[in-house]
Amino acid sequence: MSERDATEDTTADNGSETLFERIIAREIPADIVYETDTTIAFRDIKPQAATHILVVPKTRYRNVAELAAADPRLLADVIATAGKVAELEGLGNGYRVVFNTGADAGQTVFHVHAHLLGGEQLGPFGRYSQ
Ligand code: 5GP
Repeated sequence: MSERDATEDTTADNGSETLFERIIAREIPADIVYETDTTIAFRDIKPQAATHILVVPKTRYRNVAELAAADPRLLADVIATAGKVAELEGLGNGYRVVFNTGADAGQTVFHVHAHLLGGEQLGPFGRYSQ
């Protein structure tokens, strides 16, 4: 398999292993900041805020709606981990938790993940300005 194929396989919405499963398995390095039995949190490789951390359940669901329907307790674990990481990162002044869901929202990795954003005054919701 070529390098390009490997990249496509880890991001495609086709049921194959995702990039995040490879990070969970320690096959791809990541800056892991916190981990529980059911979740892992690591810094986004292309941060969109001063603090930008991805919180990922270790069991794969394609998006947050599927996760909520199948395992609401695991969704609660993801949110609890986001809150814990916000505390560890000193985000007491506020933070945002975002689940991009589907192509129009810009979801690129089809293994549900929360974006934890903070560490600065965040702009309003809406269309990306960059
Ligand atoms: P999505 O667009 O699916 O909501 O979010 C996927 C996120 O994964 C993006 O913010 C992107 O920057 C991040 N990302 C993509 N590849 C890697 C990687 O190899 N390592 C890390 N830590 N983050 C990545």
